[in-house]
Amino acid sequence: MKVPIACVIGWPIKHSRSPAIHRFWLNEFRIVGDYVVQPVEPDKVAAFFKNFPSGSYVGCNVTVPHKEAAFAAMNRLEPAAKAIGAVNTVWMENRELHGDNTDAAGFLANLDQEAPDWDRYRPPAVVLGAGGAARAVVWALLQRRLGPIHLVNRNVARAEALALRSGRGVRPGEWRELPDLLPDAGLLVNATSLGMEGQPPLEIDLGKLPAVAVVADLVYVPLETPLLAAARARGLRAVDGLGMLLHQAAPGFERWFGRRPSVTQALRDAIVRTL
Ligand code: NAP
Repeated sequence: MKVPIACVIGWPIKHSRSPAIHRFWLNEFRIVGDYVVQPVEPDKVAAFFKNFPSGSYVGCNVTVPHKEAAFAAMNRLEPAAKAIGAVNTVWMENRELHGDNTDAAGFLANLDQEAPDWDRYRPPAVVLGAGGAARAVVWALLQRRLGPIHLVNRNVARAEALALRSGRGVRPGEWRELPDLLPDAGLLVNATSLGMEGQPPLEIDLGKLPAVAVVADLVYVPLETPLLAAARARGLRAVDGLGMLLHQAAPGFERWFGRRPSVTQALRDAIVRTL
């Protein structure tokens, strides 16, 4: 029998944690299979997917900067991928390429696990950023009917464009408006790259957030960002970005290897050791 092998494609893609996540689960289920890193140059993505059906992989994850190119290459798209306009999980079904975007579900699953009942009162949310990650977060929050969602980005035109395609309930805003937006927010999400290792910190005064607010950071290197540290210092619930990374991986594993994995403390500990 052929050994199932999945991969992650990206460029550059040296520091992906995906192999460690999937190998942890393969080992846990005692499945004979593998998950490898496959660097693909930007001008070779279309050819990669054209050859995919006759190739050796059972599926793949897609990371920066190929998520939009993968979207364009699919025969079939799941609703999340269609709405977000990007694909991060690919598998074959009926000889066709199927694509999904599991970032949105991963974001929600992580919040549900780490900050239960965070959405009970459907509070207004403030999302910082308007890039690929923010697109997934906004769509995810719309699924939970949160409202309104204030989308704040350095480049306001980008926030306006995302708000426009997301529909009513998503309001673009400027950075300087934050002090007026935070007092009503039940959720603050950092979907920018600020706070990431090598990037400037995200400096916001969290003093105006309500005591029940949850602060989520998508950044996971470092795990404890200055934003999360400030939130915890204020006694707010703080959710790091590693859980989203772990949860977004689960649907792909199930498609390729046939078992639904769980995001456990043991998995988290194993991946934290790689950060
Ligand atoms: P992206 O498409 O490149 O977007 C980057 C965002 O950060 C943009 O909104 C950009 O604003 C903003 N930004 C960058 N530098 C800034 C600065 N100096 N001041 C203010 N804003 C700045 O990246 P992405 O794919 O959305 O990823 C964003 C972050 O999410 C990254 O840290 C990534 O690692 C993380 N992420 C985590 C997960 C997870 O599973 N935890 C998944 C996906 C992404 P402008 O539009 O003004 O340039």
